Amino acid sequence: MPKKYHIHTKATPLDLEYVYKFKIVRGENCINCGKCTKVCIYEAHKRQNDDPRRMADPNTVLCRNCFRCIQECPRGALEKSLEKDYLNIGGSYWKPDILITLWKQAEDGKVPVTGAGYRGPFTGTGFDSMWTDMSEIVRPTRDGIHGREYISTSVELGRKLNHLTFDENGMLLSKIFNTIDVPIPIIFDIPKIDLSLSIKTALVQAASEINTFIIMPAGGITSELEKGIKYIIPSISLNEIYTHHAILKKAQIVSVDYADEMLIDFNSAIEKIKKVSNAMIMIRIPALRDVEMTVSKLVQSGAEIIHIVADYRGMEVSKEISTNPRLIKDIIRAVHLRLVDERIRDEVTLIASGGIAMAEHVPKAMLCGADLTAIDMPLFIAIGARLYEEPERLLVMPEGLNNIPVKIITQRIINLMGAWHSQLLEVMGAMGIREARRLRGETGRAIFFEEIDNDTFRKLFKKREAANV
Ligand code: SF4
Ligand code: SF4
Repeated sequence: MPKKYHIHTKATPLDLEYVYKFKIVRGENCINCGKCTKVCIYEAHKRQNDDPRRMADPNTVLCRNCFRCIQECPRGALEKSLEKDYLNIGGSYWKPDILITLWKQAEDGKVPVTGAGYRGPFTGTGFDSMWTDMSEIVRPTRDGIHGREYISTSVELGRKLNHLTFDENGMLLSKIFNTIDVPIPIIFDIPKIDLSLSIKTALVQAASEINTFIIMPAGGITSELEKGIKYIIPSISLNEIYTHHAILKKAQIVSVDYADEMLIDFNSAIEKIKKVSNAMIMIRIPALRDVEMTVSKLVQSGAEIIHIVADYRGMEVSKEISTNPRLIKDIIRAVHLRLVDERIRDEVTLIASGGIAMAEHVPKAMLCGADLTAIDMPLFIAIGARLYEEPERLLVMPEGLNNIPVKIITQRIINLMGAWHSQLLEVMGAMGIREARRLRGETGRAIFFEEIDNDTFRKLFKKREAANV
């Protein structure tokens, strides 16, 4: 059995102005009896370090809203109230709860639980309209986190063969391509925004600690960052090849922006990179309306890794304002099914990004057909950033971020990935899937709300409508 992959998490609080859903306040009538320290299993209540006779302020970030301390306090000294800033952060996709959950996961690296249970809507749009089939959850042996069963979360990057060909003597004729193993189906994708060297260093260090990759613009890779080149995927456009040839030469994988000339003559476009580097080539393509057609042509021409990038809310990228944009889940499904129909799906690695906001989006994207995912916004939220969607996307980094030691930023990103990895193990265990690569396109283990709604109710209502006519 291969060595178990483990992400080492460690509580790493940041002294930041967090926004909470509920604020918990200890009133002056508290008699410091300490009962709340015993009833709160999340350790949100503690005594003061310098004077253990007195209670410290409650740590709201640790509170999971079970309300037990409120009920059990003999003096009614604790109060929870809705924070007025809560509804101002995030937006319709990056809901305030998502930001708060990501902050919490970066803080302690644990699987989030909500004491008051899930009280959100039954379904929604995008990934919220699909559920995973957890019918294996009753089997006690299916426990990836605590190690009673080995569950592999690793996936491969690179081109694979559809079939093998042998000569009449049984000798292998097919050329076997190299692949690269990633132990978690998540890579980092750093957008072209201004980031300080310390944040970039922390991101590269986090990628190296968890043994994944980070895509970053080649122009921003300094000699200091280059030490982590084993984990960096330099990102370029076709006309930047010679400018960054020294970096490309050292990389294992190079990300190149899609250009129309790739459809006209794929080999000569790719040959330009192959002349300066032996790296695998990943083509970064925006999730435009006809993306499945373009991806299909690229795969037929020999593309080995394709990275489909939706916008930050997981929506189709459009040059004009689209009235009915597709969402990342539907885009990936369309691309995957097109490649399956053409019998070329196994020949390419598909990476999906844009709108991957929560741990559950990773297996869901894979069930729709992605081999793995790339994330961006959650990395910044993990280090304390706030995201606003309206009136336009705004990412606000916390004040003083550049003064925070690199190892703290690194650990928070590792914590986030630790929490997501644990959740992936939970979901896979509950689904009875022991290898992450088997999640790809396994829609038999997913339930799509639109489909069951259609099957169950639309037909019924159609009949009634027809009868009423
Ligand atoms: S249980 Fe109530 S009275 Fe006792 S320490 Fe906690 S807040 Fe104070
Ligand atoms: S509401 Fe529950 S989780 Fe929050 S502080 Fe009280 S006991 Fe702890």
